[in-house]
Formats: sequence, structure tokens, C-alpha cells
Amino acid sequence: MLEALELLLDLQKIDLELAELTADGELLPERIQELEEEKERTNAEVVEREAELESMRKSRLKLERDLEDEGVKLKALQEKQLVIKTNEEYAALSHEITFIRQEISKTEDEILEIMESEGRGAKELDEAKQRAASLVAETDARIAELNKEIERLNDAVAIKADERLRISTRIKQPMLARYDRILESKGDLAVAAVIDGTCQGCFITLPPQMVIEIKRADHYIECQSCGRILYWRLEREDG
Ligand SMILES: [Zn+2]
Repeated sequence: MLEALELLLDLQKIDLELAELTADGELLPERIQELEEEKERTNAEVVEREAELESMRKSRLKLERDLEDEGVKLKALQEKQLVIKTNEEYAALSHEITFIRQEISKTEDEILEIMESEGRGAKELDEAKQRAASLVAETDARIAELNKEIERLNDAVAIKADERLRISTRIKQPMLARYDRILESKGDLAVAAVIDGTCQGCFITLPPQMVIEIKRADHYIECQSCGRILYWRLEREDG
């Protein structure tokens, strides 16, 4: 086989490995982004529960102030009752006192209800915080692993790129340009084997005379159909 053709095949092997490394590497930043978003969602849940709890606390404080006001009102009415002169006034006052007592009882019930909700809310907040803490720890560990993997892939790409440079400097510029152009247009292989008279790039059957020339391998031949550089291979290799 022509030496330059062998170099092209070496180059192609490296390009395939580079393509695989790049494909592996492309998925990782996206995965990291997903994990970051998961963390944000979990933390947002904690913030939301904290806000709910705070709003319940504020409602309770308002009710407690209402209760105080109602107590003051009741006390004033009871004092007034002591100095009342007529039965009509007394009856009207009793009516007012009954009403304010109902109000107080209602406010007390509401406060109790809110306190129960606050208890539940605090418990749920605690649970949410624990969940968030363990998820964030897990996620951070996973992100660190993925970042290491990205580093590893980048190192591997750098090594392969070095190898590629070493080989490509040994290939004549027009041939290298041809290779690069075919690779760019095909996206997979620029050099294709000929097996059983067929181009393994596009699977067209080649003219017998052409196959003989390829087998002789004393000059470059491109596939008439797909344009790939052809080389002779007796049989299929495994893998
Ligand atoms: Zn072809």
C-alpha cells in the first residue's frame, strides 16, 4: 500500500476517535446544566415553604392583635355595665358583650387553626430542607464527577490532536486538503475500503478494471460515486 495512504488511514482512525470523544464531551455540559436546574428547583421549594410559613406567622400576629383589641373592648363594656342606670341600657350592653365574646371565641379558634398549620408547615419545611441538603450534596458530587470527566475527555482530545498533527505533517498538503475536504462533506469517512469490488463508503459496485488498479495501489483512486479515497482490503476485519 502507498505510504501516504497508510498515513491517511492512521489519520482517519484518529479522526474517528476524536469524533467519538467530542460526541461524548458534548453531552456533559448539558447534563451538568440539568443537575444545576434540579438543585435550583429543590432550593426554590424550600424558599417557597419558608415564605408560606412567614405569611402564616404574619396572619397569626394580626389575629393576636385583634384578640387584644377585642379584650380591651370587652373590658370597657363590662366596666360600663357596672354603672348602667336603666334596664334598656343594660340589655343593649349585654347584647354587645355577647357579640364581642363570640368575636373573641372566633378569633381564638382562628389562631389555634393557624398555629396547627404553622406546626405542619414547620415540619414540612424541615423535611424539605433535609431533602434539599441531601440532593444538593449528591448533585454537587455528581457535577464534580462530570467536570472531571470533561477534563479527562479534554486531555484525551489534546493527545489525539497532537497525534493528528504529527501524522498530518507527514502527508503532502494537496492530499491532506483532499482528505479534509472529503471528510467535511461526508462527515464520517474520507478513506473507504474496497471489499468484493464494492466501495465501503457508498456500497456501489466498482468497475472491475478500477478494482484491479486499486489492488495494485500505485496511485490514488477516488470512488466515482461518493468521491472517497479508495484502498484495497481483502476481507472484512472484525469491528
Ligand atoms: Zn463510494
